[in-house]
Amino acid sequence: MSRVTILDKTFDISIPEAEILKQVKRVAEQINKDMNGKNPLFLAVLNGSFVFAADLFRFITIPSEISFVKLASYEGTVSTGKIKEVIGLNEDISGRDVIIVEDIVDTGSTMKRMLETLGTRNPRSLHICTLLLKPGKLSVPLNVEYVAMEIPNDFIVGYGLDYDQQGRNLRDIYTLVQE
Ligand code: 5GP
Ligand code: MG
Repeated sequence: MSRVTILDKTFDISIPEAEILKQVKRVAEQINKDMNGKNPLFLAVLNGSFVFAADLFRFITIPSEISFVKLASYEGTVSTGKIKEVIGLNEDISGRDVIIVEDIVDTGSTMKRMLETLGTRNPRSLHICTLLLKPGKLSVPLNVEYVAMEIPNDFIVGYGLDYDQQGRNLRDIYTLVQE
């Protein structure tokens, strides 16, 4: 399937499953090397990262743990704008080496907020691992240590990522066709 229709939009295949898995494996091997002996805690951000997290974690060969959090968005004050709160974090992360597993880093504001929140809980170290990064959109200073793939600024779906909650089940990654 090289072209799919989801709701009112058309998407063309841009990254086939085999290429995704090759890059996910590469990142996992990098983490296996860097985190050897540290028993890292992977914290996957739901919903978007669930497919990536499952594949990444199964390429991890060192002792490690995984847990899942969600980000709840709500309107803050005018000055703070949209606020994203981390919910569902039941683990004690103090003294732990934590690797945040994210689907995509766009402007970077979500990950910046996540680092600030987790940082108050005294982890030993905090790292970001993302499936996708749009370097052209990054607008806050952010050290994204582990990146499986860099992509242009277009909107994508598949491999866990959605368009209006649809398309997460697509095995490949698709890019929105601009009309
Ligand atoms: P940021 O805070 O970095 O601007 O936004 C990150 C979040 O925006 C991601 O976790 C994801 O939920 C959403 N997002 C950004 N770009 C895309 C995209 O191309 N496709 C989809 N499905 N979600 C995106
Ligand atoms: Mg996300």
